[in-house]
Amino acid sequence: MTHYKGACFCESVQFELDLENFGLTVCHCSMCRKLTGSTGFASLEAGGNVHFTKTDGLSILNSSEVGERGFCHKCGTSLFYRFKPTNEYFVPPAIISDLPEEKITFIEEIFYDNKPCYYEFSNDTVKKNEVDFQ
Ligand SMILES: [Zn+2]
Ligand SMILES: [Zn+2]
Repeated sequence: MTHYKGACFCESVQFELDLENFGLTVCHCSMCRKLTGSTGFASLEAGGNVHFTKTDGLSILNSSEVGERGFCHKCGTSLFYRFKPTNEYFVPPAIISDLPEEKITFIEEIFYDNKPCYYEFSNDTVKKNEVDFQ
């Protein structure tokens, strides 16, 4: 278990977290793509040990019955997805400071069948479809 710090682009939101798992997951669902404005939401599983040390820009969107999204309302950075039933946070590696990128392995793509046809990652990943989450 290693302790890291992170922040949004403008640093109005700062946090600390523990990571023991460096497996990267990308979710291709339409909600993740729309909320990040990107080709899906890439995240590391951070468990429940995420502590916010500065919250000036923090806004939380209740995005579904089971999930909520944190973002900075000053700079727009996507901060996390939190799975409410287990209080597990999923945090993008790009906002974690001093994260050794060689430790990270892109292991999984979820909601793969929701991915639009115009992009495809070349990494050898486990692919799960929407039906795997029902
Ligand atoms: Zn910010
Ligand atoms: Zn998603």
